[in-house]
Amino acid sequence: MFFHATLSVKFKMSSGLKTFCLLIGLYKIRMSSNERISSSRCVEKIVLPSCAPGNQRYLFVHKWGPQNGDSAYIQASLHADEVPGLLVANHLIKMIQEIDSLGGITKQIIVVPFANPIGLSQSVFERHIGRYCLASSINFNRNWIDLTNRITSKVEALLSMDESSNVYEIRKLILSELGLLHSATMKEDDYLKCALLKYAAIADVALDLHCDSDAILHLYTLDKLWPKLSDLAIELQSRCQLISPVTGGNPFDEVCSGLWSNIAEKFPMYPIPIACQSVTVELRGESDVSAALHAHKFITYISYSVNPVVVRDC
Ligand SMILES: [Zn+2]
Repeated sequence: MFFHATLSVKFKMSSGLKTFCLLIGLYKIRMSSNERISSSRCVEKIVLPSCAPGNQRYLFVHKWGPQNGDSAYIQASLHADEVPGLLVANHLIKMIQEIDSLGGITKQIIVVPFANPIGLSQSVFERHIGRYCLASSINFNRNWIDLTNRITSKVEALLSMDESSNVYEIRKLILSELGLLHSATMKEDDYLKCALLKYAAIADVALDLHCDSDAILHLYTLDKLWPKLSDLAIELQSRCQLISPVTGGNPFDEVCSGLWSNIAEKFPMYPIPIACQSVTVELRGESDVSAALHAHKFITYISYSVNPVVVRDC
C-alpha cells in the first residue's frame, strides 16, 4: 500500500463541537467555489437558501476523477451530532488526495465530509442538536425525496433490453427530475437533501456514515443488496447487518437504493439492476472510532470490491 494509517483518533461526544471547530480550521485552506486543487480534485461549493437575512450556509462537495460516468459517493454526519464520520471522511480525503497525486483515480469519487451544515450549526443553550432540523422538526435522515412515481411515469419509453443503457437513461431522468424539484424556494433542509441526492442517487455506491452512542459496527441496507454487500461488511468487520425491504420514512439509504428496486419491480420485462448500492454505516460507539483505520478500509473497499477500476493500483 502506498499510504499508511497512522492516526487513531478517539474522543467523547461532549467535545464534538470543539472537534468540529478544529476541523473547520483545517478546512480554511483553499475553499473557493469550484476551485480545482490538483490534477483531478475539485471542491464544489453549494450555497444553501438563506435561513434568515444575513445568514448563509454552504455545502462542500469534494470530487476526484472524471466528472461523469460511474462514481463512489461517501457522506458523513448527516446526523450532525455524530461527529466521528467527519473524522473518517477527512482522513479519506487525505488518502484519496495522495492516490490522486499518483494518478490512481480512474473513476469519480465524491466525498461530502460535512453533509449537514444546518445540523452542525444548531447549538441551543450549549447543547448540540444535530439529529433533527430545528426549523422543521424533521429528522435529517427522514423525508428524503422518493422519485419513484416521477421516474416510473416517464421512463418506460426509454427502456430496452440493454441493462447499461437502462441505467444510463434512469440516471439521466433522476438528475432531470431532481433539477425540476430543486429550487431556492425550498426549505433549507429539503434543499440540502436534494443537493446531496444529485450525487448519491446516481452513484454506483453511496455510503452514509453514522455513529451510535454505544454500539458495535453495523450496517443497514436493502435486503436485495445482500449478499452482494457482504464484501463491505467483511472489509469493515461489521458484526451485524440489518437488511430489510423498504421500511418507510424515506431515510437516505432506502431512497437511493429503493428507487432502483421500485423501478425494476414496475418494469420486470426489462433488465434493471439496483445500480445504486446504498448503505448506512454505523461506525460503532461515539468514543471508539478509529478515523484513519476506517478511512483505510473504505478505500480498500472502493478499490477492490465495489468497482475494481475506481482506484488503480499504484
Ligand atoms: Zn445517525
